Amino acid sequence: MPFDDGRRLWIRWTQRAIKDDERNTMEYQAVGHDITERKEAEAALLRAKEAAEAADRAKSEFLAIVSHELRTPINAIIGFSKMLGSTTLTLDQREQVEMINSSGLALEKIIADILNLSKIDSGKIDIEHAPFSLRMCVQDICAFFAPKARSLALALDSKVDAGVPEIVNSDESRIRQILTNLIGNALKFTERGGVTLEVSCARGEPVEPGSNRRVARLFFAVKDSGIGIPADKMDHLFMPFSQVDTSSTRRRGGTGLGLIISKRLCELMGGTISVESRVGEGSTFRFSILTDFEES
Ligand code: ADP
Repeated sequence: MPFDDGRRLWIRWTQRAIKDDERNTMEYQAVGHDITERKEAEAALLRAKEAAEAADRAKSEFLAIVSHELRTPINAIIGFSKMLGSTTLTLDQREQVEMINSSGLALEKIIADILNLSKIDSGKIDIEHAPFSLRMCVQDICAFFAPKARSLALALDSKVDAGVPEIVNSDESRIRQILTNLIGNALKFTERGGVTLEVSCARGEPVEPGSNRRVARLFFAVKDSGIGIPADKMDHLFMPFSQVDTSSTRRRGGTGLGLIISKRLCELMGGTISVESRVGEGSTFRFSILTDFEES
């Protein structure tokens, strides 16, 4: 309905017939409710949602293009510095070529992490639900890190509780991603002692009455005897690009995205992540995920 000043109003009409004692219609009553404000609020909300979706699409496209454009020259830097490293060089030159190579690798990791986080944040990753052996997964990860632990003279142990089912249904590659990040960090920030990975499980109800498939919560703990984290830094730890001591992290390498990616992945798998730590004594990162398994 147009106004004098050209504005349009939204009116919701309610009509009813007024009848006499013999049920003859005497008149119709119509009441108009001005719902312009509500309609405008709805339209504004829709516009905001569309704008946010468009911005999100633009961000994803931008990231995809930028990361593609960056990857090509980075691959050239990594590849050619590696080739150069296999030629005859002076000691100084070799050091410089190694710096170029490790910087290229660090850049490659940053791009992969940014893309990974952006995919998670835009809801573009699917969590698998497939059977796999958790014990094998833990063994593989420890075998992967064993040479690094050995080279740092650190112990690396794992302990999987007897109550953990042999086969669980979940997303093995995402669990590996979280564990790789936490164990990688634990080794990175530990100078003596070692790192232990512990896994336990709380078995729950059948997924539906009569089913022999039961829900379970898996608990993981990655403990280290490293440098620890100051209490006032713990709240910010699970935020993008958060690093406790940028000078030492720079020395040890890292993007500051590993923990936020791990947190998001845990949440997608129905779990949480937390940390306890004491400076100079070590840190324990704990996370849980929801899963299910076939009871034999
Ligand atoms: P990064 O790639 O820098 O390791 P993360 O998000 O994985 O990024 O970790 C963020 C920061 O949290 C690290 O830079 C470090 O300061 C701190 N941190 C993570 N794990 C540990 C640990 N086990 N011991 C001490 N500090 C840690």
